Amino acid sequence: MTTLSGIPASSGAAVGPFFLLNTNIPVPTGQPSHQSFEAEGHALNLAIKNVGLDLEARAARTTGELQEILLATAEIATDPAIAEEAAGFIASGHTASYAMVKATEVFQELLAASGGYLAERVSDVANIRDRVLCEIAGIAYPEIPHFDVPTVLIAQDLSPADTADLETDKILAIVTAGGGPTSHTAIIARSNGIAAVVACPGVVEAAQANAGSTVAVDATNGQITFNPDLALKAQIASTIEKIKARKSRVIARSADGYVTTDGTAVPIYANIGRLEDTVAAVAAGADGVGLLRTELLYLDRNDAPTLQEQTAIYTELFQPFAGQKVVIRTIDAGADKPMAFINFDHEPNPALGVRGYRTIFGHEHLLRTQLEAIANASKATKAQVWVMAPMITLPGEAAAFVSMAREYGLTKAGVMIEVPAAIFHADEITKVCDFVSIGTNDLGQYLHAADRESAPLAGFNDPWQPALLRAVHQVAQAGVKNNTPVGVCGEAASDAALASVLIGLGVSSLSCSVATLTDVAQAITAHSLQQLVLAGNTAIAAKTAQDAKNSARLHLSELVNLGL
Ligand code: PEP
Ligand code: MG
Repeated sequence: MTTLSGIPASSGAAVGPFFLLNTNIPVPTGQPSHQSFEAEGHALNLAIKNVGLDLEARAARTTGELQEILLATAEIATDPAIAEEAAGFIASGHTASYAMVKATEVFQELLAASGGYLAERVSDVANIRDRVLCEIAGIAYPEIPHFDVPTVLIAQDLSPADTADLETDKILAIVTAGGGPTSHTAIIARSNGIAAVVACPGVVEAAQANAGSTVAVDATNGQITFNPDLALKAQIASTIEKIKARKSRVIARSADGYVTTDGTAVPIYANIGRLEDTVAAVAAGADGVGLLRTELLYLDRNDAPTLQEQTAIYTELFQPFAGQKVVIRTIDAGADKPMAFINFDHEPNPALGVRGYRTIFGHEHLLRTQLEAIANASKATKAQVWVMAPMITLPGEAAAFVSMAREYGLTKAGVMIEVPAAIFHADEITKVCDFVSIGTNDLGQYLHAADRESAPLAGFNDPWQPALLRAVHQVAQAGVKNNTPVGVCGEAASDAALASVLIGLGVSSLSCSVATLTDVAQAITAHSLQQLVLAGNTAIAAKTAQDAKNSARLHLSELVNLGL
């Protein structure tokens, strides 16, 4: 047996044959071209055009988010800036292939330096480059074939274009060496209910070394085992059975939320960012929306959205949640989400710069227009609209935001707690706000001074880090004292075991990704509040993230039976 570890990205387990997607693309050398500039230029332009057309055709065969991603990728491919950059290399005597490699390197560096969402486009550009190189070489790009029997798909990474024609019913699980929990592979796997493990270094080499054998994938703990023995196969089979049983389990719910075995209601909301998400949130059984990330609606805009535009889209977003709560967050621009219509001066440390609520310096009109639009949309629908500001540091900022929201008739106003100073001000902040919501993604990065996008620092950003859990506990206690609801809307709330711990620490509601909402609800409703409190107490006493997880799980006895 050969066992490797990765990051679980979509829950589930599988055992079976595997297919390794070969992505050995011809690598051009820097040898001078033997052809004319014109011939090389023509070869490059034709290849780019064909790749763009192919991506558009793939987009036409898909729907929803994947279609949008593919159309955006086709746009990147045919962006004249890449061809222009490449033309410079051709002009200095290089081949079309080499010019393409060099030109895309320039773009990849620019994207990587921007961080966050833009950095995630680096792999899209790499995929475009590979497709163009195959096109120039006149060879077929390696595609995922049709499988006669259900198969585990292993790859270095999967691009959106790779998965456009994926026969998802024939895929037992997906394992990639690259990618992260928010990568495209993870999203595709979760939306199709396929088990997935990502960021699994060495999996491609292990698959080559174990060609023809079987593989066991356990996406509850991220372990991949080639040539599994009988005991492991039996264990995986039992996990699969538990997952099947979990899917048909009736989950206890009341008008106030999901209900623990001793009768405590826990509202579980969804995190959304686009119109399509509303349908998925309702279908997943969300009690409403706990985080509507409005900046995601406008990331590609050069000009600020107007009052009318915003009123229209917020109205559409609120409509499906009549009688339910929708927590809408004002634009969180900056750092990993730069926005063209908010002019940022060059900042050496954007994550520590003018971002979130801080963009009010010089852009108060944008916040006011947004609040007015939110108020208009709130009046036009039956959703209970709560509004909150991101990246609040001081009680004075919280008070100023709440009073500004009130000017527009918004009666429920609160802030996100995601800056360490706000923890120490939690008492004052929970006095001036109607509610607070803890953003564990940013809070984790700022508490540990570790960029949330940095792979080498991922351990610091493990949401089980005891310092983060203690911070959550402190804010939750302030909320209890001042009778102010405290929710968690960071990714920590999307992990079924950790979400249970958060409730045990005194948090009053959770807001998680739509894909994991049912798992979270399963975990909460399978335990008593008393068990959750014991799990919370033991987790905050731990010295390491792993200890926190292991010790909490001892009190969450049903997780194993649920295959979580
Ligand atoms: C967070 O920081 O936890 C959060 C929910 O906000 P975002 O991930 O959008 O920064
Ligand atoms: Mg945040």
